[in-house]
Amino acid sequence: LEKKIKELEARIPQRFPDVKFLNYRSKKRILITGGAGFVGSHLVDQLMIAGHEVIVADNFFTGRKRNVEHWIGHENFELIHHDIVNPLFIEVDEIYHLASPASPPHYMYNPVKTIKTNTVGTINMLGLAKRVGARVLIASTSEVYGDPEVHPQPETYWGHVNPIGPRACYDEGKRVSETLSYAYARQEKVDVRVARIFNTYGPRMHMNDGRVVSNFILQSLKNETITIYGHGKQTRSFQYVSDLVDGLVGLMASNYSLPINIGNPIEHTIEEFAILIKKLVGGPSKIEQTSAVEDDPQRRKPDIKRAKTYLGWEPKVPLEIGLHKTIAYFRKELQRATHSQRN
Ligand code: NAD
Ligand code: UDP
Ligand code: UDP
Repeated sequence: LEKKIKELEARIPQRFPDVKFLNYRSKKRILITGGAGFVGSHLVDQLMIAGHEVIVADNFFTGRKRNVEHWIGHENFELIHHDIVNPLFIEVDEIYHLASPASPPHYMYNPVKTIKTNTVGTINMLGLAKRVGARVLIASTSEVYGDPEVHPQPETYWGHVNPIGPRACYDEGKRVSETLSYAYARQEKVDVRVARIFNTYGPRMHMNDGRVVSNFILQSLKNETITIYGHGKQTRSFQYVSDLVDGLVGLMASNYSLPINIGNPIEHTIEEFAILIKKLVGGPSKIEQTSAVEDDPQRRKPDIKRAKTYLGWEPKVPLEIGLHKTIAYFRKELQRATHSQRN
C-alpha cells in the first residue's frame, strides 16, 4: 500500500508553474473555449503565467484534460466541462473562442455537429460578450479562402469555397462565424477580433488527428511508409504554436477589428515536407504517393502585411526547430502509449 501511495503522490505535481502577480486592475477574467485542445492549452499556459484568471470551457471532443492538468487546482484556473452549443452564463472580461474540431478527419466525423459548434456556439459566445461587455476573439481559419485562386492570400480575398463539399461543414461554418461576428459588432456593438489561422503544429497536437504533421512524424517514428496524398506538389505554410499564441494575444490587445491572417509565410510542398521530417526523425521509412483527397486546397500561404503593420507581429520559430520539439513530444507520447498498453 505504501508503494502505491508513493506512486500516486509522485503523479501529483508538487507546485504549479510560476505565475506573475497582477493587481486587481490589470488582472483579467478570461474565457477560453476549446482550451483543453492543442492551441487552446498553449494559450492557457501563456495567460496563466501572465497572471490572469483563466476559465476553460471544453466538451473534450478532441481536447484532453491532460493538456491543462498542470493547472488543475490553481486558484486562478477553472475547467468547465461544457458543450458550447449550449448557452453559458458567466462573467468575464475577454473571450477567446477556439472551440471547434480543427483537423479534416475530426471535423468531417460529425459534420452537423461541426456546423452547430461554429454557428450556434459562436452565437452563444457573441451573446455572452454582448451581455457582459467582453471583447471576443474568434478563431477563424485560412480555410475561409477555400482552394484559393489568389496567391498568397491577403485578408481582402473573398475565397473559393465549395459550399456542399466534404470540407464545407468547417469552411462555411467558419465563414458564418465571421459573418456573425461582424453582424454583432455592427448591430450590438460587440467588440470583436477575428484571427484567420493558418496551419499550425507543435507539442500537444493530437497524435491521431490525421493532419499532415502528425501523420508524417508518427509514420517516421514507427518506420512506416510516409503517405503523400496525391502528387505532393500542393503547398502549405506551417507555423509553430508559440508564434500563433503570441499573435492571438497581440490581436486581443490591439485596436484592430478586421480579420487578420496569423501564419508563417514560408511555403513548402508536401513532398519537401515529407523529406524534411524523414531526415529529422532519421529512419528507413519509404515515401509513397497515395490517392488525392477531394477539394484539397492546392496552394496556401498567408500574406501577413496586416499582422506586421497593426500588431507588429511575425513568426519567429524556424521550421526545423519547431519540428524538433514536436518530434520529441511525439516520441515521448509513443513511449507513454506503449508503456500504458503493457501495464
Ligand atoms: P483541437 O481539436 O486540438 O482543439 C479544439 C478544442 O475544442 C478541443 O479541446 C475540443 O474538445 C473543443 N471543442 C470542440 N467542439 C466543442 C464544443 N461543441 N464545445 C466545447 N468544446 C468543443 O484543435 P486546435 O488545433 O487547437 O484548434 C483550435 C482552434 O483554432 C479551432 O477553432 C480551429 O478551427 C482553429 N484553427 C486551428 C488551426 C490549426 O492548424 N491547428 C488552423 C486554423 C484554425
Ligand atoms: N447567451 C449565452 N450567455 C450569455 C448571454 C447569451 O450563452 O451570457 C446566449 C443566449 O442563450 C442566446 C445567444 O447567446 O441564445 C445569443 O444572445 P443574444 O442576446 O444575441 O440573443 P437572444 O438572447 O436575444 O436570442
Ligand atoms: N496530407 C498528406 N498526407 C497525410 C496527411 C495530409 O499528403 O498523411 C496532405 C493533405 O492532402 C494536404 C496537406 O497535406 O494537402 C495538409 O493537410 P492537413 O490535413 O494537415 O491540413 P489542411 O491544410 O488540408 O487542413
